[in-house]
Amino acid sequence: GAIVFSGIQPTGVPHLGNYLGAMQRWVQLQHEAASDPTAKLYYSVVDLHALTSVTASTPSSLLQHRRETLAALLAVGLDPDRCVLFYQSSVPAHSELMWLLSCTASVGYLSRMTQWKSKLDIKDDATFHDSASRTKLKLGLFSYPVLMSADILVHRATHVPVGEDQKQHLEFARECATNFNHTHGQQLLVPPTTLLSPARRVMSLQNATQKMSKSSPDARSRILLTDDDTTIRKKIMGARTDSISTVSYDRHERPAVANLLEILVLMENGNSGLTGPIEEKTAEVAAELEGKSLKALKERTVDAVIGHMGGIRERFFEVLKRDDGAYLDRVAAHGAKQARANSEETMAAVRTAIGL
Ligand code: ATP
Ligand code: MG
Repeated sequence: GAIVFSGIQPTGVPHLGNYLGAMQRWVQLQHEAASDPTAKLYYSVVDLHALTSVTASTPSSLLQHRRETLAALLAVGLDPDRCVLFYQSSVPAHSELMWLLSCTASVGYLSRMTQWKSKLDIKDDATFHDSASRTKLKLGLFSYPVLMSADILVHRATHVPVGEDQKQHLEFARECATNFNHTHGQQLLVPPTTLLSPARRVMSLQNATQKMSKSSPDARSRILLTDDDTTIRKKIMGARTDSISTVSYDRHERPAVANLLEILVLMENGNSGLTGPIEEKTAEVAAELEGKSLKALKERTVDAVIGHMGGIRERFFEVLKRDDGAYLDRVAAHGAKQARANSEETMAAVRTAIGL
């Protein structure tokens, strides 16, 4: 049966990009798993990863972000009776396997990856050897993909649904599994398959060359799962576009307008409502709007987002407060127990293979 693993960092309230690129797909996989009793789903709030962006410790805000992120998973429709929802740090095997993988992982491969560069805001063509990058770069950010590989491999995941920005890390995870298996002479770890949602990469509302991110300093660049209708309206109507006043769909020449059109299509159809590639349906909607103003496009997008997200927002606040917060603690404890049991099976075999 399929084993699905994916994670989200507790670095803030999830946004439309997280929802469309990842979480909505996770829910869809939960529906599909209903007809396959052998399927297993693991979704983790990856708090250890979030430490790579902490510069001054604020324990109360990390605790809060963890709770909010878990609440968001429940709010979008994940069911703790049908999938394993847990905090990464409550399952020590993730960190243990990371160390074992790092003994066969290549520094050269890691240094060619792009995420550490974008997180440090240094140029794509900067290298590991530039002293400017070296001073800023912490070991944890650099080895982030090794921990992410451990997250996946420790649960023997066969499928990993992520946004396009994580594609490179998934290739690395396959490499980690292969290197480990080769070194220890056994087909123990399972190289996982990447699942990309039709949304792939939702772009920032303020700069359509960057993906929408929790960690961008500009709050207007993203729509949060908690934004009320007025805020959603303000952010979409204020989205930075181009100077052509009417609607047309051209991802390359008009990325900001294309981003709004695709958000509109995804909000009106949902992931499961889209069979073909998103480009087809988006071109249809763009044709409907031909000759209309960008304001008209934005207004229709506002309505679609408000219509789709209202229920999620209400459930989010309800879940966060349920039983004075005790409900979330119960969900996390239940998930941790299951995730620990599953990961321990892998670790027992791994330790035997290594001779530990
Ligand atoms: P941060 O800026 O802290 O890295 P983030 O917004 O990138 O936050 P993550 O927790 O790193 O969020 O990613 C969670 C999941 O959401 C991943 O599968 C990632 O690929 C996906 N994702 C993040 N941003 C987008 C986006 N703009 N479009 C599509 N998918 C996205
Ligand atoms: Mg990210």
